[in-house]
Amino acid sequence: MKIASVETFLVHAGPPGETAWAGASEGGLSLGGTRHWLFVRVTTDSGLHGVGEGSGWPKVVETAVNDLAPLLIGEDPRHIEKLWGKLHLAMMGHGMVGTIGGGAIGALDMALWDLKGKVLETPVWNLLGGKLRDCIPAYAHASSPKVARAAWDMGYRAFKAGNVKGIVEKVAALRAELGSDADLMVDLHGPPWLTVGDAIAMGRALEPFRLLFLEEPLPPENIDGYARVRDAISVPLAAGERHSANLWTAAPLINRGLVDVIQPDSGRCGGITQFRKIAALAEAHFVQVAPHAGTLGPVAEFAAIHCMASIPNALILERFAHDWEGRSRVVTATPELREGRLVVPDMPGLGVDLNLPEIAKHPGGHNVGVPSTASYAAGTEAEYVYVQPRWQRTTAFGHEEN
Ligand SMILES: [Mg+2]
Repeated sequence: MKIASVETFLVHAGPPGETAWAGASEGGLSLGGTRHWLFVRVTTDSGLHGVGEGSGWPKVVETAVNDLAPLLIGEDPRHIEKLWGKLHLAMMGHGMVGTIGGGAIGALDMALWDLKGKVLETPVWNLLGGKLRDCIPAYAHASSPKVARAAWDMGYRAFKAGNVKGIVEKVAALRAELGSDADLMVDLHGPPWLTVGDAIAMGRALEPFRLLFLEEPLPPENIDGYARVRDAISVPLAAGERHSANLWTAAPLINRGLVDVIQPDSGRCGGITQFRKIAALAEAHFVQVAPHAGTLGPVAEFAAIHCMASIPNALILERFAHDWEGRSRVVTATPELREGRLVVPDMPGLGVDLNLPEIAKHPGGHNVGVPSTASYAAGTEAEYVYVQPRWQRTTAFGHEEN
């Protein structure tokens, strides 16, 4: 069996109904104009094919996939580790290219695992050592008690709130609404203006709420800062979504014990091959795995489910309780949600395929966010999130009354 073709499909996906930061009615994030899913299909001369998904910067990743594709044509798709190395080597002259490279190699790698499962007529989790669990715990984004309660009614029992401003009050409201049966998480998304001292102060203020984890209290590249935050607070730290493009870029956070939870993005961490290695390294350091999935589409979610089913240190999987309504239409299957957990599929391969006629209705477009009217305006609150060095401290921390 030899690889005969590699195809890419860039899909312009709509925004999720709710994020940890804000609901769609509040303006949400600018994901609606920029959110894309890049699917790939690797077809063999036998007619069998596998599908994958790459994130990182989907439109750019598509170019990278098409650049790499000739390296796979004529190859035996069974030798995934060898082919992964061949693709990785091809990127060395380009500076390894970070999560874009991780997305491109990962999309192809994912398709090869799907293909192998179809060839052997067995689920991907069976190729990865078998299942430790039949369902994967999932958490929903919740910017308010009302949103969290709606997700609770769908079966979710874990919720993540986001943003720096007013986060302590937001978490207090969620805990008051949901009680101690709910797992709560916070994502600060590590804005570059947040000092280590303030991240520590925020972490201490969040300690009483017994979070499952505090995500990105600082930019994940601030390794020394993570060490200081870790030593100063009693809240599990999580990071890894932004720059985990393979085993080696995830390793510093794990090896130095800077995080309790590593968050590989199954669409840009170098594929299932690298996800497994990141998880194994994490296991050696008593770190748990909670994949990032904020911008991901349905194929990468299936890949994450198979990985999480087969590793001992699987903590929880991120997802939107209400995603773009087209999500279920561009593919052939949707994971079953059962009491807040995603049922691990038993179909051969990943258990999902592309719905090409539906995909054709949503062609890819511009990948870079165009700010809505107020965003990034100088001197406004919308500017402070990432652009302004610092907002007035009392405003940033939401304690103006104090
Ligand atoms: Mg995050």
